[in-house]
Parts: sequence; C-alpha cells; structure tokens
Amino acid sequence: MRIFDPHIHMTSRTTDDYERMAAAGVRAVVEPAFWLGQPRTSAASFADYFDSLIGWEPFRAGQFGVRHHATVALNPKEANDPRCRPVLDLLPRYLEKDAVVAVGEIGYDDMTPAEDEAFAIQLALAVDHDLPALVHTPHRDKARGVERSLAVVAESGIAPGRVALDHLNEVTVKLARDSGCWLGFSIYPDTKMSPPRMVELLRTYGTERMLVNSAADWGRSDPLLTRATGEAMLAAGFTDDDVDRVLWRNPVEFYGQSGRLDLTDLDTPTAGTFEGNSILRGGD
Ligand SMILES: [Zn+2]
Repeated sequence: MRIFDPHIHMTSRTTDDYERMAAAGVRAVVEPAFWLGQPRTSAASFADYFDSLIGWEPFRAGQFGVRHHATVALNPKEANDPRCRPVLDLLPRYLEKDAVVAVGEIGYDDMTPAEDEAFAIQLALAVDHDLPALVHTPHRDKARGVERSLAVVAESGIAPGRVALDHLNEVTVKLARDSGCWLGFSIYPDTKMSPPRMVELLRTYGTERMLVNSAADWGRSDPLLTRATGEAMLAAGFTDDDVDRVLWRNPVEFYGQSGRLDLTDLDTPTAGTFEGNSILRGGD
C-alpha cells in the first residue's frame, strides 16, 4: 500500500513517527502551515517556521525515505491577531518556492470579519500564484462554516477543482461535494472522523475527489490512521486500486496542480546534512 498523507504537521512529530510511517507505506506528505498551540508574537516567527517547512523538515523526512512538501499561509486562528497580520506581506515570497504546493491552511476558525478578510486575500494569492488552496473548515458550527467557505471560494474566482475543503464529516460532505471542490477528511483516534466512518462515506459518495489525512500534530492524533483507513477499506470489500486512488493518486492529482510536486526517486532515502546538521546523535 503506498500512502500520501495530504495533511500532517510533521514539525510536531518525532523521528519514531517517520520510521513507523515509512514502514506502513507512507512515502509522501504535505505539511500545511498552522498555529503553534500558543500565539506567535510577530510575523518574524512565521518566517522561521516557513523556512523550516521548506528546508529542515523536508531534509528530516528524506532521511526516512518520505517526500515532504508544504503549504504556507496565515492560519485562520491567527488571522484574528493583529501581530500576525503582517505575514500576509511575506507570503508572496514563500509562494514562489518549489517546495510549496498550495496556499493553506486558510479558511475559518470562529468566522470573524478578520478571518473573512484573510481568507479572501489568500485565495487571491492562490489565484495569482497559480496554486491550489487548502481550506480548513471550522470544528464548531460546521455546516454554516462550509456554506460560508464556499461563498468566499465562489467570490474569489478560483476554480473549485483547485480547492480542498478539509475536516469534513457526514454533515458537510454533501454540500462540499456538490460544489466541485476536493473533499478532505481528517481521521482522528477518538473523536470526529474514524476509519469505519470514513469507509461508510466512501461507500456512499465514491472515491472521486476524496482525500484522507491524519492531520497529526502536537495533540492526540495518529500518523498511521491513513494506513488504518486503507486496511478498513480492504476489509469492507474495496479493491487495492480503490485504496491506491484514495491514498495515493487523489492527493497526487490535487497537489500536482501546483506543477511542483516532485515524486521522483522515492525509493532512495536522502543522505548528507542540512546546513551542516544531521538528525544523527553522537557526533556522526
Ligand atoms: Zn492541520
């Protein structure tokens, strides 16, 4: 089983995770920029974070044979903090980088006017830079959040086929599907979406434009739930080809729209150092 996790925050995971993911078949990931769990105090904090997402983290992933790409954005939560807003001026520089395959995560957290504005500005950046957009839908008031997100997407003029709406569930899937956007589902250990529920959604709605991710971060989460979903699909009678479509070809097609997805030489873990640093210990 080859797996592409289209949404995972590897910066907050350990090398053990990379080892287990590689052993489970995860060969490529996309890491969207998000918040740190505590507020950033200036735009400079984003610059260091973005540099890490396109430099150090791809190097670290490569040591385990996992290909790493990123998406960059001002996340919905911090769109409300005036100290963070200046990062909007920094984004165009990062959206030119080869390692960046979309604008994201953008969208709504609390659906405030500040979030409206940051969302619209960043969809315009996606259009300008000819990149797809990864849209986080709120965990509270989900249906209204998706409705409002779709209205902003429509207004921006970006093609729905270049937008992924993430963190969907049974309540929001149909609305999202009818829009022509890609459908992202985050599989969590105890709450929200689980592998069996995901299998039911795939049964009902098919495999087209469906994206399954672990959204693993510094909270309770599990980077192997993509694999668990693939296993649950097979147990439910889906074919190997169905699994490959959902867990590999769909994310490749979605992010491939950036023209920047590099999946060559996937079988060779990279060697060497990054700016003189390795992930080894003990002076090697
Ligand atoms: Zn996320």
